[in-house]
Amino acid sequence: MILLLPILVYFFICLHILMSQGRSPMAVISARTALLEGGWAHDVRVEIDASGKIVSVLSDQNPEGHKTGILLPAPANVHSHAFQRAMAGLTERKGPDPSDSFWTWRQLMFRFLDRLTPDHVEGIAAFVQMEMLEAGYAANVEFHYLHHQPGGSAYDKLSEMSDRIVAAAAHTGIGLTLLPVHYEYGGCDGRPLGQGQIRFGNDFERFAKLHDQARQTMQYLPSDSRLGVAPHSLRAVAARDLKSASDLAGDGPLHMHLSEQQAEVDEVLAFHGARPISFFLDQCDAGPQWCLIHCIQMNSAESDQLARSGAVAGICPVTEASLGDGIFGATAWLGAGGALAIGSDSNIRISLTEELRALEYSQRLRDHSRASLATHDRSTGRRLFEAVNKGGAQASGRNSACISEGRLADLVAIDDGHVDLAGRTGDALLDSYIFAGDDSLVTDVWSAGRHMVRQGQHIAHDAIVSRYRSIMHELGDAL
Ligand code: ZN
Repeated sequence: MILLLPILVYFFICLHILMSQGRSPMAVISARTALLEGGWAHDVRVEIDASGKIVSVLSDQNPEGHKTGILLPAPANVHSHAFQRAMAGLTERKGPDPSDSFWTWRQLMFRFLDRLTPDHVEGIAAFVQMEMLEAGYAANVEFHYLHHQPGGSAYDKLSEMSDRIVAAAAHTGIGLTLLPVHYEYGGCDGRPLGQGQIRFGNDFERFAKLHDQARQTMQYLPSDSRLGVAPHSLRAVAARDLKSASDLAGDGPLHMHLSEQQAEVDEVLAFHGARPISFFLDQCDAGPQWCLIHCIQMNSAESDQLARSGAVAGICPVTEASLGDGIFGATAWLGAGGALAIGSDSNIRISLTEELRALEYSQRLRDHSRASLATHDRSTGRRLFEAVNKGGAQASGRNSACISEGRLADLVAIDDGHVDLAGRTGDALLDSYIFAGDDSLVTDVWSAGRHMVRQGQHIAHDAIVSRYRSIMHELGDAL
């Protein structure tokens, strides 16, 4: 309770700043080129109302308001553990275990997070959200499981750490979909949490209280923010609680890690007698509300069945490469009509273009092919970009994904004067931006109409970086 008052005061101050700096009652953007629902258009005028919704989109207009080059819908980043950004680059040496793997990386992660205070988490989350916005994402779906103090005792306010993620979003203006994570066991057999996991753990009753407190705090964010629920994985949550998690989510998003590593498949198969995706489909009412993260270890029958359910596959290609998880079967998934979104997960690198490149190139390397995700009427870049906008909106619970009336103004503008785009038109603009360029082509980003990135930088870039830098010095060589 002692912390509550200053946090609330802080929210009001931040909201005041957002209202006065990041939002105007009505904004107009003019783009020389824009990707609309029906395809490419020129001299486009987009009008946004005070709630962050697009109220009109017209082509062949005289420029007025904020003038940009190429205007695109900005996707959501659907999977992030913000605190892991502070470990990036610290796990690239061989450990004492000669078969260094995902599991030894996880041990290092557990040791690192034992040093983190609520102030650290807030500062790191603000830095991560700023990097996401500068990379062209409009929203951050935060899969948040670091709930308690070192040693495992709850903070005076159960949702203290969730509140800090919310405070970071109030500062950065990103569209936040907060997913408090239910994490109860150390394995499928219901064994207690290990020493490195005790900051995550709750029984379902306490988790529901934490979730309710987080709901109260979320009221201080703009109306586009969303609250969902994330059962961590089939290893960490009892099957009976999957239904309880779904009830708690209401109409909010439901996310879960699923079928990332072979060892997880083996454990679920041994304990439940079914592979993870089959077991999930058997236990849960899979549908569009669900986003399953990774789905790497998935055979073709599982892929077809899960795709047909309407659930989103939340793929994190850079992290999956970093952790050696394997290759997601994107050609089969999209071929079956599956919904696809991307996330930056461990945040070892936050780059929208690199995630998309890594996903496409993984398919080419596996199949010895080219343009793996292109179709007869969509180039690789166009198909990927539209798919992750659509799937990202679904998985984050945001009414975004395309530049049209009634949608949230989640928008990214690209520099049409950049040399990588010289002479390009139509889908080649997206292909050149994604495969030849990088995130430095981003000039502006709006999240629900909040104009947070201008001339390639977040409006509070220097202050956020300076705070993050001092946290990094404080944490020092924690590993
Ligand atoms: Zn994850």
